Amino acid sequence: MSRLSDYHIHTTLCKHATGEAGEYKDAATGLGLSEICFTDHIPSSGGYDPEHRMPMEAFPVYRDMIQSLQDGGPPPRVLFGIEADYYEGCEEFLREWLPRQGFDFVLGSVHFIDGWGFDNPEERHVWDSVDVTVTWRKYFEAVWRLADSGLFDAVGHLDLPKKFGYRPKAGDLREMVRPALDRMADAGMGMEINTAGLRKPVGEIYPSPELLSMALKRGIPICFGSDAHSPSDVGSGFDLAISLARETGYTHYFKIRQRKKRLVPLPGRGGA
Ligand code: ZN
Ligand code: FE
Ligand code: FE
Ligand code: ZN
Repeated sequence: MSRLSDYHIHTTLCKHATGEAGEYKDAATGLGLSEICFTDHIPSSGGYDPEHRMPMEAFPVYRDMIQSLQDGGPPPRVLFGIEADYYEGCEEFLREWLPRQGFDFVLGSVHFIDGWGFDNPEERHVWDSVDVTVTWRKYFEAVWRLADSGLFDAVGHLDLPKKFGYRPKAGDLREMVRPALDRMADAGMGMEINTAGLRKPVGEIYPSPELLSMALKRGIPICFGSDAHSPSDVGSGFDLAISLARETGYTHYFKIRQRKKRLVPLPGRGGA
């Protein structure tokens, strides 16, 4: 997996990850990754989900922590990113705040539907009392709005609601995803292949092979993310992720710097 980049890494500042930032970098060095991008959960604003993210006062600590790893030494190069939630009414804050931070990468994710943290194990039981198809539809409507906002570089874990195994019918899913992918393509957005699902009850990469091939048809570029919440997660499942990308027909993935993407060839089979 040498030369690949892991673009989805958290830090202890989010209150639910372990390990120092330097340990994540060391893990990437051991794997021969060319780049890593820290994308910790965006600081809480306006009282949004303070339990799973750093308070705004801690943001300078985050920035300094990442900058201290940008030493110009041997790979991996360390990028400065953020996993920014899309939620109802977030645009005003994000439009003003994001451009001032000097991020390399802004990953857009939906983690809440009507205030319900649908991927939080502690709130999993709610799935048993909702209409699964309606829930997925609401989720993708949020992804449409995320794309339309033009505030993000890529969508994180596109089919995250499958985490615990609750799914709509395949035909319904395709119908929901089409407009989301169309809007992502129109906005010039990328999408991550996120391997965290391999470590969750669903046991699958986000997104599924079918959704990935729908993205390829629209020319949506991909990147790779482990969604690491511990140093040992860095780069995990990347061999499977590369195979998935190749089998789908992707030949390139994107690297990003200062929010400008450029395409580079996928490593060859056998991890060349
Ligand atoms: Zn997290
Ligand atoms: Fe996420
Ligand atoms: Fe994440
Ligand atoms: Zn994530």
